[in-house]
Amino acid sequence: MPPMGPPGPPPRGGHFLSEDEKNNRPKVTKELLVRIFSYLKPYIKQFLLVVFCIIISSVLGLLPSVLTGKIIDDGLIGQNLYALITLIIISLLVTLLSNLIGVLETYLNVWIAQHVTFDMRNKMFKHLQSMSQRFFTSNNQGDIITRMTSDIDGVQMIITNTLTSILSNVITLIAAMVMMFSKNPILALVGMALVPLFVLPTRAAGKTRWMITKKAQEAGDEINGILNETLSVSGQMLVKLFNKENYEYSRYEKANKRMIKLNIKERMAGRWFFVFLSTFSSVGPMLIYLVGGVLIMNYDSSLTVGDITVMVALLGRMYGPVNQLLNIQVDWIRSMALFTRIFEYFDMPVEIQNTKDPVVPSSNTGCVEFRDVSFSYNDEREILHNVNFKLESGKSVAIVGPSGSGKSTTINLIPRIYDVTKGEVFFDGVDVRKLDLEFLRRNVGIVSQDTYLFNGSIRENLLYAKENATEEDMIEACKKANIYEFIENTENGLDTLVGNRGLKLSGGEKQRISIARVLLKNPALLIFDEATSSLDSISESKIQDAIEPIIKTRTSILIAHRLSTILAADEILVLKDGVITERGKHENLVKMGGVYTELYETQFKAGLIQN
Ligand code: ATP
Repeated sequence: MPPMGPPGPPPRGGHFLSEDEKNNRPKVTKELLVRIFSYLKPYIKQFLLVVFCIIISSVLGLLPSVLTGKIIDDGLIGQNLYALITLIIISLLVTLLSNLIGVLETYLNVWIAQHVTFDMRNKMFKHLQSMSQRFFTSNNQGDIITRMTSDIDGVQMIITNTLTSILSNVITLIAAMVMMFSKNPILALVGMALVPLFVLPTRAAGKTRWMITKKAQEAGDEINGILNETLSVSGQMLVKLFNKENYEYSRYEKANKRMIKLNIKERMAGRWFFVFLSTFSSVGPMLIYLVGGVLIMNYDSSLTVGDITVMVALLGRMYGPVNQLLNIQVDWIRSMALFTRIFEYFDMPVEIQNTKDPVVPSSNTGCVEFRDVSFSYNDEREILHNVNFKLESGKSVAIVGPSGSGKSTTINLIPRIYDVTKGEVFFDGVDVRKLDLEFLRRNVGIVSQDTYLFNGSIRENLLYAKENATEEDMIEACKKANIYEFIENTENGLDTLVGNRGLKLSGGEKQRISIARVLLKNPALLIFDEATSSLDSISESKIQDAIEPIIKTRTSILIAHRLSTILAADEILVLKDGVITERGKHENLVKMGGVYTELYETQFKAGLIQN
């Protein structure tokens, strides 16, 4: 009986399809195929060698079937022992050779797949690093990681499995057909008459499997979502504090159950068709026996029993590839969906990049000027409106204003985390968009509100700012940042591990380490986004003690929430709803009865008492 098996499982690399792809099968266009093959281009020699190996091993794989005819006719019926033994040995050698070539083919295949994905991963990482902050704030982190990992792993599987499977099945099919037709066209036609009957049911089964695959994909998304939310540091904290362990467990278990049900269904889809098909496909050889018998008995005396056996064996070798090619369609669609997903990321334009001939100023004074700057994150709402201010070299400015007034947004425009919508931001007298991006970012240092430390030691986090910093440099920076005393008292000193996101340290300690880090970077302009979250007064005064001397000696911008910081600055800008409403010195502003007075009464005064 020809080898008719149930449909093989679709690739389950855990790669996920977007909503759109789930509902619409991806369109396979010529451009898409050309683009996919462009990744194989650097390895074209190896790829051609694989194709050559597949051709040789497929043809060699068919030879034993042809030799069976000779074994029967010359060896058995002809009763020729020498011919029988020779043919058996040749048959075995051919099989051995075909398998050896198979090993080479697998090696080359894996090699190509690994190299293609290596290139793709590097390209994607580089591309993602060049994406703007807007991209990272609007896209789900899990989704970005999935594309980097399992989607690209999926590509590897496509090259090693789907592509080779298509190639070897097509070649085996063609070779079997050519051999059959050259042996006996009538019997070949008889054998092939049944092939169209496989097509319809297999297509229907493929459709069902695609639908189930889509649902399994959704269940996978859900599971990923639950894992992302609940197993993160902050997520787990929330779960614990709200006693939601059981709730989260049952949510996870439910999604998990849905997933296994769908997986079983997916594997079983179309199984009934194949019971029918397997039985039905055994009719093929019977038809060849029948028609072949009639031919031998009545018409074609040159046809032998061996010939008929060869035809039946070849038919068996042909049904296999037909079946597999029909089943490969789901894998194929998924593969195309994966490539579409990956290319979608590659096609996202790089929003913030160097201009053609970027300016690299010879000096770096750190002075900043905002000229009529307006900014909006999206079309919905303008956040900053016609902001104007100038910060001279060596001076400091404090930006104060109610929450959400646009303070952080303003400072993000300086190192081009975002670009202005209207107006210009100048750094060292040059529009930041014309400046060399590397120069700009090297010369602007920000201590942000939510400090981020990498998982590693304090030393590693400090060296991130200056690779070649000496022990003395680091100690000096830590002393200036008022954190050295703390480091000295830990068991491992600078080698103390800070934990995931620096969470093994207190908020104040993290802040001071990040101040030390920025001091090591030694930028021309220092921006300090003061944390709104209240630290205890000792921590706070340690931070104050660290930053006040820095403000006095460096060009700096401070987003200030505490009076002592505000008082240390040369000028105060009051921002409300994206507009600078007041500016000047504390003594004058506090008497104006405006936004500043209100802020002073409600926020800063308390800070004064605390300090
Ligand atoms: P706070 O003192 O609370 O930190 P802020 O004055 O620094 O506030 P911004 O963070 O600049 O305020 O935010 C200004 C406005 O821009 C807010 O209304 C906020 O909702 C909006 N906003 C901030 N970031 C984004 C973003 N990535 N996409 C869209 N809107 C944003």
